[in-house]
Amino acid sequence: MVNVAIVGAGPAGLFAAFELAQAGLQVTVLDMGKPVTERSRSDGFDLLHGMGGSGTFSDGKINFHPQVGGDLNEFLSPNQAWELVDHIEAVFRQYDVEVIATDDDDTRELEKQAAKAGVRFLPIRQAHIGSDHLTDLMRRFHDDLVGMGVQFRFGARVADVVAEGGRVAGVRLEGGEFLAAEAVLLAPGRVGSEWMRRVLQGHGLSVVYNPVDIGVRVEVPAIVMADVIAVCYDPKFYVRAPTYDDMVRTFCVSPHGFVVKEVYAEEGVVGVNGHALRDRNSQNTNFALLTSINLTEPVESTTAYGISIARLATTIGGGRPTLQSLGDLRRHRRSTWGRLTKSPGDVVPTLEDATPGDISMALPHRIVTDLLEALDILARIIPGLDADRTLLYAPELKRYANKPKTDKHLQTELAGLYVAGDGAGVARGIGGAAATGEIAARGILSAAQGG
Ligand SMILES: Cc1cc2nc3c(=O)[nH]c(=O)nc-3n(C[C@H](O)[C@H](O)[C@H](O)COP(=O)(O)OP(=O)(O)OC[C@H]3O[C@@H](n4cnc5c(N)ncnc54)[C@H](O)[C@@H]3O)c2cc1C
Repeated sequence: MVNVAIVGAGPAGLFAAFELAQAGLQVTVLDMGKPVTERSRSDGFDLLHGMGGSGTFSDGKINFHPQVGGDLNEFLSPNQAWELVDHIEAVFRQYDVEVIATDDDDTRELEKQAAKAGVRFLPIRQAHIGSDHLTDLMRRFHDDLVGMGVQFRFGARVADVVAEGGRVAGVRLEGGEFLAAEAVLLAPGRVGSEWMRRVLQGHGLSVVYNPVDIGVRVEVPAIVMADVIAVCYDPKFYVRAPTYDDMVRTFCVSPHGFVVKEVYAEEGVVGVNGHALRDRNSQNTNFALLTSINLTEPVESTTAYGISIARLATTIGGGRPTLQSLGDLRRHRRSTWGRLTKSPGDVVPTLEDATPGDISMALPHRIVTDLLEALDILARIIPGLDADRTLLYAPELKRYANKPKTDKHLQTELAGLYVAGDGAGVARGIGGAAATGEIAARGILSAAQGG
């Protein structure tokens, strides 16, 4: 019997393990993936599974803000939320992760410029580790946790949670092995969110759907974004698109970065994401431009809706993401390689494994309208963003579905069963996942002390 079994070795599970081991509890972390030293970036399974979770081969751009990458105010007072964010930052600092310095006057000037254009700009403390440095950080984090007594079991796929007498009793692994635990934390990431929904609903626990964010990845010459990136490494802009009154936001800006394919093998769909390396630059900058979709009766499953859009986009792209220039989208014509590479001023796509096509055949009209309007408005702050040569890749899909019903400690309706991270719909990034892992760990500690 261990004190705590944690499912998932992503940032949520690891920060929880860190907190619990520091308090002297016996912790076992189970992950179906491999140790970090055995993971390969070019393997579809390894990309999202194993030590560090989907964070390991991510860009390692970390936002230190209670309302970016989740909303910590759902669980904590504003002061407590900021204290937790500071704590997460302090842990990262132990691993030589530095917050990017910003200039207060420049930040205020950008805020002012954005406000005048009717856009909200949210200043945030940020760090950028870089995909090429994350594996080493994860190796060090793993070794430190092992030094603190945490046991890791890789290649261990958890099949179910076991309950006895109205509280959690442990987990059952694929193959039948039972691991008894006083408390269980499920932190399976976005990749495990459907599995978690099935497990929780199988135990009669309530799950509600979160909104889904759908849009495109925008790619422009790096020089177009250089001025705003000089002020803020990953600027967050929020635009209200007038026709449908929908909120559109920028997300995950990758300066001099690369657009990458994201494969959701289980659903058979392909999407896009983006990352930047610290030691290798492209000529372009890319970012996600997303609109949030929240559904109510009779269609509540935003995940099913999002996936069906992604499936359509995957079909249109012949199994690849669809790529179109903004000029072609505006002129209602599909892009072709010939049109995309016609003049020396064209943007050279960093993702070649894409199909030039027509994004308006892949995404609903409302989303395309929202995105076109948002680009026009954003161009008032970032001149050149609305140029014909701007590239758009679809679909960019962010699912935050399957939010189990929990208390403020992230304990589900089953006593002793906690959830955290992206898979629980309470985080949308490394910082938020780490913070919610901490909240759950503190809940477990408080319950263990009779709190
Ligand atoms: C390409 C890419 C780039 C990204 N860039 C950034 C970025 O720059 N900044 C940022 O903040 N975020 C970024 N993200 C998102 C970030 O990686 C996630 O938000 C974060 O890793 C979520 O942490 P988590 O602990 O909730 O889950 P994850 O990191 O997804 O970890 C979940 C782990 O659980 C394991 N698991 C799942 N189910 C089971 C099971 N049944 N049994 C055993 N193990 C299981 C998985 O193998 C996985 O290792 C990026 C993601 C991707 C894919």
